[in-house]
Amino acid sequence: ARDAPDQTALIEVAPPGTPSLTGADRTGRAWTYRQLLAEAEQCAHWLLTRFEPGERITVWAPNVPEWVILQYGAALAGMVVVTANPALRAPELRYVLEQSRSAGLFHVDAFRGSDMTAIAREATPELPELRETFSFGDWQTTVRAHQEPGPLPRVRPGDAAQIQYTSGTTGFPKGALLHHRGLVANARFMIDRTQLPARGTMVSPMPMFHTAGCAMGVLGCAHQRATYVLCQLFDPALVLAATAEHRADMLAGVPTMLIAMLSHPAFGQTDLSRLSIVLSGGSPVPPELVRRVEDRFGVRFTAVYGQTELSPVVTQTSPDDSPEDKAGTAGRPLPQVEVSVRDPLTGEPAPIGRPGEICARGYQAMLGYFEMPERTAETIDTEGWVHTGDLGVFDDRGYLQVTGRLKDMIIRGGENIYATEIEQVLFTHPAVRDVAVLGVPDPAWGEIVAVVLVPAEPASLPAIEELRELCRAHLAPHKTPSRWFQAGELPLTGSGKIQKFRLREEIDHARLRELPAG
Ligand code: ATP
Repeated sequence: ARDAPDQTALIEVAPPGTPSLTGADRTGRAWTYRQLLAEAEQCAHWLLTRFEPGERITVWAPNVPEWVILQYGAALAGMVVVTANPALRAPELRYVLEQSRSAGLFHVDAFRGSDMTAIAREATPELPELRETFSFGDWQTTVRAHQEPGPLPRVRPGDAAQIQYTSGTTGFPKGALLHHRGLVANARFMIDRTQLPARGTMVSPMPMFHTAGCAMGVLGCAHQRATYVLCQLFDPALVLAATAEHRADMLAGVPTMLIAMLSHPAFGQTDLSRLSIVLSGGSPVPPELVRRVEDRFGVRFTAVYGQTELSPVVTQTSPDDSPEDKAGTAGRPLPQVEVSVRDPLTGEPAPIGRPGEICARGYQAMLGYFEMPERTAETIDTEGWVHTGDLGVFDDRGYLQVTGRLKDMIIRGGENIYATEIEQVLFTHPAVRDVAVLGVPDPAWGEIVAVVLVPAEPASLPAIEELRELCRAHLAPHKTPSRWFQAGELPLTGSGKIQKFRLREEIDHARLRELPAG
C-alpha cells in the first residue's frame, strides 16, 4: 500500500444479477491497495473490540472480497483465521468450530440455494468457546461503521496466521496451523517463478478457504503490486468473461476447472489475447492438458506441486521450461526448501531415479496440526521433514515427477499400481472429458483397477475395447482397468479435487453405470 497506493488490488466478480452477499449495494466492486489497507486496519480495530490476539475466528463463506479484508485485518490484529469450505454442512462445520476452539464465526446468509444461517444455527449450540457469530450481510453496518482506532498488537513472522483443514480427499480433516512467514514467503517464491508481470492482473476462481486462493492468489498478487480478480465461485463462463473483461495476464485453476473451460461453448468466443500465463496444480496435471492449454489458450503453462501443510508450493515448473519438462514433471523445488525423496519403509533418501515418498523441509512447514500432537508426529519427523504421503522421483537435473499418492496406490495381487499413470493415458483420448482411476476390492486379486469416465459428449464414448487398446499400447497389462464405469461428472472437493472415496461408495452401492467390458 505504501509502494503502490493507487494500484487496483482487488476486483470482485459475481454472477450477473445476483445480489451482494455482504450487504453492499452492488457487486463488481474494486479496491486500491491504499483502500484495502485502510479497510483492513479498520477491521483489525473492530476485531480487537471482540477477540484477543491468538484467538481463532472461523470464516465459512464463498469468495467474497470482505474475506480478503478480514484476512488482512486478522493478520494485523494477531488473530488466527480458520478457513471453512462453504459446502460444509452442519456436522462438518461444527467439527471445525469445535476442533479449532473458535471464538467467532463469520458466514454468509445464503449461497447456492443453501440457507447458511440455518445451517450455522444448527452447527453452533453448546460450543462453550464460540462467543460471537457474524453474518457478512451485516458487514457494512458493523465492521465498516467502526471508527475507534487503538493500538495494534505486535505480530511476529513465526506466529500462527491460519488453520486450514485439509480439504478431504482422504476423508479425515486435520487443521494445518500455518504461520505468516510460511504463507508470505512461499507466495513470493511461487509468483516469481510464475512470472506474473509487476502490476499485472490475475484471475482466479480458487477458493479463499484454500492456500491456493488466500495465499498464492491474494499474497502472490500483493508481492507484484498486481490486481487480484476474485471470482465468487467457479463457473466456466463467469471466469472466461472475467479474464477477457479485466484483460488478465494470468489465470489460475485446478486441472478440472481448465478442462471445464476448454470444453465450454463460451471458450471459442472469449478474447484471451492478453492472457500469457496459466497456472495449475493441486492434483495431477495430465501432460495432454498442458499441451491443450498452451495451444488453445495461447499461453505458457506453469504447474505447482505442494500441499496445505507446506504453505503450499514445494516444486513448480517454469513457463520457460521445455515442453517435455512442462508436460512431464512437477518442476524443480522453489528456493529455500529442501526436498528429498525417501524410501517409505526405511526413511533413507532414495537414489536419483528411484521412486519414494516426497518429503520437504524448510521455512514453509506448518507449525503442526492444531491440537493433534500424534498426527503431527506422524507427519513431521524429528529431523523436521514433512512427509507428504505422495510418491515421486527426481531426475538428475532436479526435476520432480509426482507419480501418485501412497494412499491412492492400488495393490493388485501384490503389484503396486499408480492411478495417475492410467488416468494420464486415458485422458489423451478425445472422447474422454475427465477420468478417475481407483482400486476396488476383488476376491481373487485383493484389489483391481476400476475407472470412471466422463465422456466429452454424452453419447460419444467409444467401445471399451478401443480404450483398452489405448491402455495396452502404453501400459503394462496388469494396469489396464478391469471395470469401467461412466458418470456425468466426478464428485469434487471444494478445491476441485476428485473425491475418490465418494466414487468408491457409488460403486459399492451400484449407483454408477457399469459399461460392458466386452
Ligand atoms: P487430504 O487428502 O489429506 O484431505 P487434500 O488433498 O485435500 O488432503 P491439499 O493439501 O489441498 O489436501 O492437497 C495436496 C495434495 O494434492 C498433494 O499431497 C498431492 O497429492 C496433490 N497434488 C498437488 N499438486 C499436485 C501436482 N502438481 N501433481 C500431482 N499431485 C498434486
